[in-house]
Amino acid sequence: MQPSTASNPLDILIVGAGFSGMYLLHRLRNLRFNVRVVEAAPDVGGTWWHNRYPGLRCDVESLEYQYSWSPELRREWRWSERFSAQPEILAYAKFVADKLDLRRDIQFNARVERAVWNDDTHTWSVSLSDGSSATARHVVFATGALATPRMPDIPGVENYKGRIVHTGEWPMDGVDFTGISVGLIGTGSSGLQVAPQIAKQAKKLHIFQRSPAYSIPARNRALSEEDYTRFFDNIDEFDSLAMAQKGGIVVANPTLGVQDVSPEERERMLGERWADGGAFTFLSTFKDVQMNETSNQLVADFVRERIRETVADPALAEKLCPKYLIATRRTCVDIGYYEMFNRDNVELVDVSENKISAFTEAGVRLASGREYALDAIVLATGYDAMTGALLAVDVVGRDGLTAKTAWENGPRNLLGLMIAGFPNMFTVTGPGSPSVLANVIRAIEHHVDWLSNCFDYLRRENIACIEADEHAQDAWVQHVNQLADRTLFPRTPSWYIGADIPGKPKVFMPYAGGEHADRVAQNGYEGFRLTREKSVASA
Ligand code: NAP
Repeated sequence: MQPSTASNPLDILIVGAGFSGMYLLHRLRNLRFNVRVVEAAPDVGGTWWHNRYPGLRCDVESLEYQYSWSPELRREWRWSERFSAQPEILAYAKFVADKLDLRRDIQFNARVERAVWNDDTHTWSVSLSDGSSATARHVVFATGALATPRMPDIPGVENYKGRIVHTGEWPMDGVDFTGISVGLIGTGSSGLQVAPQIAKQAKKLHIFQRSPAYSIPARNRALSEEDYTRFFDNIDEFDSLAMAQKGGIVVANPTLGVQDVSPEERERMLGERWADGGAFTFLSTFKDVQMNETSNQLVADFVRERIRETVADPALAEKLCPKYLIATRRTCVDIGYYEMFNRDNVELVDVSENKISAFTEAGVRLASGREYALDAIVLATGYDAMTGALLAVDVVGRDGLTAKTAWENGPRNLLGLMIAGFPNMFTVTGPGSPSVLANVIRAIEHHVDWLSNCFDYLRRENIACIEADEHAQDAWVQHVNQLADRTLFPRTPSWYIGADIPGKPKVFMPYAGGEHADRVAQNGYEGFRLTREKSVASA
């Protein structure tokens, strides 16, 4: 482990040992930087360490949801299924950590609580939950976009006497639902994945649905030797397809709009992708689903028809049909979610109007006064997305500016990488970058490569301090909003715009465009203020 003191600071401190932090550690060690990672969990994996509810799978295909930068890692690791389950993804993270000998530079079981910028020494002082501290020239928050579980805004949770678990903080030893009555609150990606697993065990599963979500069947299957042969034989084309797509997904860019083809042709094309499975490929059938409302409705109608075909009770099917514009929230990928409603032990409780008003000793109460007695409650109520993990840390930048104050009206930064007023501090796949709209592994690789090149450049040029310029940041935020406004995204309340959290500023957070960051680097980091070493006071 690299030591650090005020007089001998680390070059870079990385917060988080998920896929971002792991790759960044590897790149920076190879560049011979003095670097350390701090991680709150006892091992690597980040989101995939904390999320371990039954049924959890990635909604990006396994061959795409792995590091692409190392041919060796790709050759040595074998995924067993098309869409990997969490245990296998976590095993992959551990395999990478072993293979690259990463753990020796990771301080586990330590959460960063406070980070304070010192303008005289151009360093960050970082305090950790285990009582230790560190000093570093640069800090990188590689803390993930969906890392801070969100409790629902329902009063009285302390009164509930049964077992209550959040999908984002699943107990290490699991939860046994056998023969009991379970309530599930939340029907986003997590709720749709966990529900069929609980239904297999529970005596009764009550699903409290405030808004139905769109979900595309995974059509998961074992990966065969032929799949792998095809993958390795076409790996260059595979990578160039991913890089050509702003979402980083291996699918050809669509050329046709939904209304460019006849209704029969539209049904045929969507039907083919539906039969193939997976949300990214389905939503890439046409080019204008997220841009044109009529096109969007036609695709949404197709999905609603599939729900009606699958769920035996027509009234229930209708309740499961989402009304919002498809793909303006994260589209789910499921295995047997709609089919599950044909079981006798599953009941959908529509809480869109008749809201859950309180937790009680025995379960939950609805606004109507109706009570549900539940032995266990599963909260699949999501995350304080994109900003939660950073704002959970007391980050103090130049002149005492805190991150909470800087972002009190919503996240503002340059390229999703750096916030004005917080010199030498970066975020990986932060708001203002494609992150959650893309295959996040590709987004991570892009940001980590950019950061590694940037640190190398700063060292070569003897630059002690890099900082986002306010005007460049304003221009970037405006550009992110302008692009979002050209899409249908802002039309739907979602976690992309902080709509799920009372009091959270309503700003579309991800960047719905391609990458600009490379051009910025090629232009000598335009938009960033660079200060050379000689103007720094010695520590
Ligand atoms: P989410 O999409 O934010 O869904 C939260 C759910 O909780 C929504 O259905 C929401 O209803 C409901 N909810 C919140 N408060 C409620 C209340 N008071 N009463 C009733 N319902 C309430 O969270 P998530 O499912 O954990 O997914 C978050 C993101 O994580 C996903 O969008 C995805 O990006 C990622 N994820 C990915 C995977 C995967 O790769 N397969 C799996 C899990 C998660 P409303 O919709 O009405 O607000």
